[in-house]
Amino acid sequence: MKKQYKVILISMSGVRVYNKRLLDLGLTLPGFVERSEVIASLPSLGLLTLAAHTPDNWKVIYKELDHFSESEIVAIINEKPDIIAFSSLTARINETYKLSQRFRNIGITVAIGGLHVSALPDEAQQFADIVIQGEGELIWENILNDYENNSTKPFYSSLAEATYRFHFDLCKVPKYELLDISKYNRLTIQTTRGCPLNCSFCAASRTISLYKKKPIQQIEKELLKIIEIWDRPFIELADDNTFVDKKWTKELLTLFGKYKIKWFTETDISIAYNDELLALLAKSNCAQILIGFETANKEGLKGIDRNDWKYKQFDQYLKAIDKIQSYGISVNGCFILGFDTDTKETFKETEQFIIDSNLSEVQITLLTPFPGTELYQQLKNEGRLLADNYWEKCTLFDVNFIPKNFSVSELETEFENLMKNVYAKKVVANRGKQFKKVLLNRRKNNLHASL
Ligand code: SF4
Repeated sequence: MKKQYKVILISMSGVRVYNKRLLDLGLTLPGFVERSEVIASLPSLGLLTLAAHTPDNWKVIYKELDHFSESEIVAIINEKPDIIAFSSLTARINETYKLSQRFRNIGITVAIGGLHVSALPDEAQQFADIVIQGEGELIWENILNDYENNSTKPFYSSLAEATYRFHFDLCKVPKYELLDISKYNRLTIQTTRGCPLNCSFCAASRTISLYKKKPIQQIEKELLKIIEIWDRPFIELADDNTFVDKKWTKELLTLFGKYKIKWFTETDISIAYNDELLALLAKSNCAQILIGFETANKEGLKGIDRNDWKYKQFDQYLKAIDKIQSYGISVNGCFILGFDTDTKETFKETEQFIIDSNLSEVQITLLTPFPGTELYQQLKNEGRLLADNYWEKCTLFDVNFIPKNFSVSELETEFENLMKNVYAKKVVANRGKQFKKVLLNRRKNNLHASL
């Protein structure tokens, strides 16, 4: 019989915000709190995927550490794992490094992967035995094999070594069965990885992999696995931009339409130009799509993505929202504040745009220079980062850089005021009412807005 090993996969989950006034405000702003809670309570699909790529002679334990206690850490140590692997985002990376040091000090091998360490592998190597850069699936299989042969390396990279690049044809179904399903209100499936638009502030679009899409048969397998443990699930697609390839999208929506699920994803606005896909989207029980409009100030979109694609779409924004929602699909519109082109006027314009658009939900965040992005490099070169190692403040709600047309506190104040106005109870209720009206109108007249 093969020697038995044990691995603990730890997801550093949860959202932290440091701006105290915003935090206090957040507690009274229902629209804001709800989306934050949804994000904080999603399981780590990356780790469930690694679990699927773990051989049978390894026992796998999956854990999420949000606000954790000493006794939870002691319980992890008492499991006597051979390896602990962390997945962590920038905002929780310093906590991850501390825990990693603690586990290493008692002889446990620690591996860390994810977006942050993929962008800054040299930093991560000071705190972990093994750093995983890029896609984890094949690397993980190699790490476990190397561990068994006492030959692990400090650094594995799918970006530097083509042999570690993962082809979606080789996908395994994530080990959803490791989850206590009663704790979750959504489960995730990844149908695409990366995004071809490469926005300057976006780390997700390229740090792990270039854009690619999963075979539809594989997505169906993953969906069926979820349905096995949760008969009418809510699925959140763990994608950056799902509907890039329209032919493949048609197959995906047709697949989703066959099952009794509700689902949510993120996309760019191009879906609004395709009536056939909008009709399929509506039929497939899509609960909501989230679109990054980024700014209500057209000038702010110049240079954001490679071909100024978003800038070219700006004049269609309002009509596109109207059209998508006229199919009964809720749009959650995302706006970022703090671009160099933003002035106080931009905050007023954003509020007005949100009112004019009748968006059913809204997400506003502060521009954040995540490592690995062009924005990070630009602000670093210009000496505008407020501190070194500001990682815990990469929350999307804290200012980390010197803005162009504001002082830091002015930007914070403008943002807080916009939050108050956009998420006031009455305003949120009004957005809901407006969307219901659209739905009723659609049922009565079966009419769609044009573009
Ligand atoms: S469209 Fe969205 S996912 Fe794609 S690069 Fe831009 S911000 Fe990232």
